[in-house]
Amino acid sequence: AAKAEKRGTCRSFESGMDAAAQEKTRLEIDFRKALQNKELRIHYQPLVNLESGAIEGYEALLRWHHPVRGDISPDVFIPLAEEMGLIEAVGRYVLQTACRQATDWPEHIKLAVNVSPLQFRNGNLISTVIGALSAANLPAERLELEITEAVLMEKGPRPAAIIRNLRAFGIGISLDDFGTGYSSLSYLLNYPFTKIKIDKSFILKLQHEDRSRAVIRAVIGLGKSLGLTVTAEGIEDPSVRDYLRDEGCMQGQGFLFGRPAAAEELSAQA
Ligand code: C2E
Ligand code: MG
Ligand code: MG
Ligand code: MG
Repeated sequence: AAKAEKRGTCRSFESGMDAAAQEKTRLEIDFRKALQNKELRIHYQPLVNLESGAIEGYEALLRWHHPVRGDISPDVFIPLAEEMGLIEAVGRYVLQTACRQATDWPEHIKLAVNVSPLQFRNGNLISTVIGALSAANLPAERLELEITEAVLMEKGPRPAAIIRNLRAFGIGISLDDFGTGYSSLSYLLNYPFTKIKIDKSFILKLQHEDRSRAVIRAVIGLGKSLGLTVTAEGIEDPSVRDYLRDEGCMQGQGFLFGRPAAAEELSAQA
């Protein structure tokens, strides 16, 4: 009886696992299809000068509208693409499409594109980036790549060499989600960043938390003394915008200025 019971328990546990695994496999199959069928869309969110209110750039944010499940967050499908070994193809698609799109914008408007740490590890990131720029005929100075600290945790000299190489072409390098990882100060000194993006978790809590305000003030000061642009993500409220501007933060991004939107909708928003 003990044996049968054990087997039974075992079976139900396994079938539980099967359901989760099957679910994931289905999503993987669907994602592969979405990539092939160009079901992935890019939305663009404005980066705004906090002093003048002028739009200085747009960040490309990938969107997946699943035919049955509806919108799936990039926080779900980007890690999926990374696990499936598809992130290089996804990254190439975003770079090529967004660079082409950016040529429709006025010349002073920059394009920011997020890059996965795995694109540093496996792919030929430099040739993908330069290839996308030259195919679109977009000047390198108009592109900013957003990376997270995870890139810098890679062992060996590769990430540093790649970043320096990209900078040598004139491409900007932003440190995204600053404050959420280890935020080692040595990263800021040893890599040629052009911008720090303060993570939205600090900005969203700014009104209620002294500690968030302290972090924000410190990062703005640090960026200034290193000669970097400081951008605050997650600005939803005019009083938060005013506070950040008065603290000396130069650039902002958030629902207050505009939600991520399809390229065709941008002029209507601006
Ligand atoms: P991220 O690069 O830090 O992008 C900022 C996220 O904050 C976006 O979420 C944006 O929609 C959201 N956001 C902007 N303003 C506000 C605001 O005022 N309030 C709030 N609550 N949120 C705001 P999204 O589009 O869901 O993207 C999530 C993350 O997925 C991105 O974070 C980025 O890490 C990743 N991601 C998106 N597109 C790509 C891509 O093409 N490649 C790679 N590798 N990662 C991507
Ligand atoms: Mg980003
Ligand atoms: Mg961010
Ligand atoms: Mg993020």
